[in-house]
Amino acid sequence: MNERAGAVTPRSPHLNILTVDLEEWFHLDEDVVPPGEWDRLPSRVEETTRRLLAILEAHGARATFFALGWVAARHPALLKMIAGRGHEVATHGYLHRSVAAMSTEEFRADLLRARQAVETATGEPVEGYRAARWSLGGVPGGGRRGRASGVVTGALEVLVQEGIRYDASLAPIVYLGDPSWPAAPHRLETAAGPILELPPLVGRFLGVRLLSGSGWALRRVPNRALLRQIARRNARGWPAVLDLHPWELDPDPPRLRLPFKYRMAHYGGLRGFPAKLADLLSRLSLVPVRDYLAKGLLAASAMPPA
Ligand SMILES: [Zn+2]
Repeated sequence: MNERAGAVTPRSPHLNILTVDLEEWFHLDEDVVPPGEWDRLPSRVEETTRRLLAILEAHGARATFFALGWVAARHPALLKMIAGRGHEVATHGYLHRSVAAMSTEEFRADLLRARQAVETATGEPVEGYRAARWSLGGVPGGGRRGRASGVVTGALEVLVQEGIRYDASLAPIVYLGDPSWPAAPHRLETAAGPILELPPLVGRFLGVRLLSGSGWALRRVPNRALLRQIARRNARGWPAVLDLHPWELDPDPPRLRLPFKYRMAHYGGLRGFPAKLADLLSRLSLVPVRDYLAKGLLAASAMPPA
């Protein structure tokens, strides 16, 4: 039992997956802060990522960092350091563009540019992808009954064609995705071949199905409730996939004038989050996707053939 001194409850023996979207505080939506403005804004990613790494290391947690290519190109030493500490570095695309707004060839160009920036920095191959704002699921709210408009199949095929092993972009909730999509890791068949899909943790709070392992909900939903949801998934043999951003560890983030939906998602619940996160990390055993897959814990039916 790897219980930490002073912890009230023992650390769960089940492995779960921790992911980090490695991006700047201003990487929200290209309509809110367009890429042409990014180089003029103060960079906080080095400082906030170091703070995050220190918290992860204090609790023995390792993660998959989905690095934005734009960040990788400007901070290669940061990526090298992350990889050197035993974390996995995958990619979050280059310019944080909505997948649904790109043509298939624009998507391929953005993916390859990002992968090259990441691999040049780390010297290790990129195996995984996460779309900006879960947008591989289509235009948010653009489908039936408030669901997203549907998986961008052309982009999914590009991931397979370019040798990406897994995707972590399809949210099984209304608006950002579709609640009819599986909440467990699963194999997606595409015209180009299969790929492993790792959906983010979802849970129900006050009757609403939320992404509970990321963003506002991860910062605000009590750890007790999160740990109960994670234990329920683990009892079914599934890992929970949690998701952090370095800017969530910024004690004094620069303020932008944002539309309300972004204001809550971006600034709600930041106060006290480092302590809440540390408590959660002390009760879970968190590993990168790469390490989880290497353990062979997923059902063979979910895994694409190697
Ligand atoms: Zn992002």
